[in-house]
Amino acid sequence: MSFDLDARIRKVPDFPKPGILFYDITSILMDPEAFSYCIERMVERYKDRPVNAVAAVESRGFLFAAPFAHRMGLPLVLVRKKGKLPGKTRARRFQLEYGEDVIEVHEADVHEGQRILLVDDLVATGGTLKAAAELLTECGAEVEEIFCVIGLPFLKFREYLAGIPVTTLIDYE
Ligand code: IMP
Repeated sequence: MSFDLDARIRKVPDFPKPGILFYDITSILMDPEAFSYCIERMVERYKDRPVNAVAAVESRGFLFAAPFAHRMGLPLVLVRKKGKLPGKTRARRFQLEYGEDVIEVHEADVHEGQRILLVDDLVATGGTLKAAAELLTECGAEVEEIFCVIGLPFLKFREYLAGIPVTTLIDYE
């Protein structure tokens, strides 16, 4: 089946700052056929894989991970920005282009024996997903694969995330 996913992704020049072309997945969410296409591709790829949990990066990762986890009957771990999770958490600090950020998971939600599919909407440098993967690994889980709807390979995320397979539905150069 050929499906024009590119046509369903809104491109916003100069957002959030001049010179950046922002790939906006809200246009996928507005289009049930496109949203369903993304979730079906995930199911197709992972239904026979040894994945027994899903983890998603705040916040747009949640939108793709939740319907997938529900459909597959898998637990869903939320990787959130600091201060959002109410239970006992483990945190990881990581560098952004300017400054740094902190992500957290509920310690009780991640444990040995979990083979996790880690999900976000878009991978650029891979910095966010690398920090998330390291946090999950520190808690004893294994990250089986990373899935993102969109990839920006010119920012070299595959090199940065070396060792973890990354699947994307569409790449932009
Ligand atoms: P990275 O850490 O450099 O890979 O950046 C990826 C993170 O930034 C993800 O959580 C994305 O949601 C967000 N992001 C960066 N660029 C874009 C974009 O063009 N569209 C949507 N999200 C973006």
